[in-house]
Amino acid sequence: MSTLTLNRWLKEKFGCKVYKLSLSTGCTCPNRDGKISTGGCTFCSEGGSGEFGQTSGNIDEQIRKAVEKISSKLPKTKPVKFIAYFQSFSNTYETPGNPFENIADIFHKAISHPEICALSIGTRPDCISGRMIDFLSELNKEKHVWIELGLQTIHEKTAEKINRGYSLDVFCDTYKRLKDKGLSVIVHTILWLPGETKDMMKETASYLAALTPPPDGIKFQLLQILRKTKMAEDYEKNPWSLPGMNEYCSFVKELADLMPEETVLHRLTGDGPKSLLIEPLWCANKRAVLNEMKKHFQLD
Ligand code: SF4
Repeated sequence: MSTLTLNRWLKEKFGCKVYKLSLSTGCTCPNRDGKISTGGCTFCSEGGSGEFGQTSGNIDEQIRKAVEKISSKLPKTKPVKFIAYFQSFSNTYETPGNPFENIADIFHKAISHPEICALSIGTRPDCISGRMIDFLSELNKEKHVWIELGLQTIHEKTAEKINRGYSLDVFCDTYKRLKDKGLSVIVHTILWLPGETKDMMKETASYLAALTPPPDGIKFQLLQILRKTKMAEDYEKNPWSLPGMNEYCSFVKELADLMPEETVLHRLTGDGPKSLLIEPLWCANKRAVLNEMKKHFQLD
């Protein structure tokens, strides 16, 4: 049973408040640029499932601007640290326009920055090369590096429906390669994908909980239907039932109970942009969702 939230884990690990800086490697995604498909995962928005990043300028400039933006809202007296968070698109995807050397240089510069305490790298399990894993495991000796893998579901039928573009075997293989090199792995799941029952979602959580070693972290993400996505078209043609706030929070608690206690709960809801949100509208009220979640998890 995991009740270990990311905030608590970060405070225990780094001894102060830690903020994520959303940054960009300039990578695209093989599920969008034609290597695998051009459509992308059906839920993915134009921003590559991450709309808030600092995307312009070199990495030092991106970090400077992102730190300034957050620091301007904080009291100067309290110490804070930052995680360089590469969220949008597939941030280990090597292409002729953005080769290994370029991406490695960005990660190296980010981790060497004095204000940065960790790297968090979102990617797909089918686009992380052996040399990238070796490189990241070296960086991991300097500061904490974790890799976020977007799995969403273990069910192949759903994976086809959402055009994920790789099979569960690919995930398992990459998971093992990352863990063998001592890297932390955070797994993303999405709840209430089309055709998925609660039992199927529980099977995904149980499967991940049974991995050896278990994931260092998990994201339970509420499916958000966003404008200008294939998912929005599918939903309009053939809507499926989405949960209310209470039902969702209570179910996420059931899933968290399935996870081992050392697996950190990185996310319990969705974080899509409000301006694109079609359904479920209740999740736009973050404060209300947080309060409801606190009740179910008995958090302070
Ligand atoms: S892998 Fe990520 S960036 Fe690529 S299409 Fe899917 S959600 Fe979007």
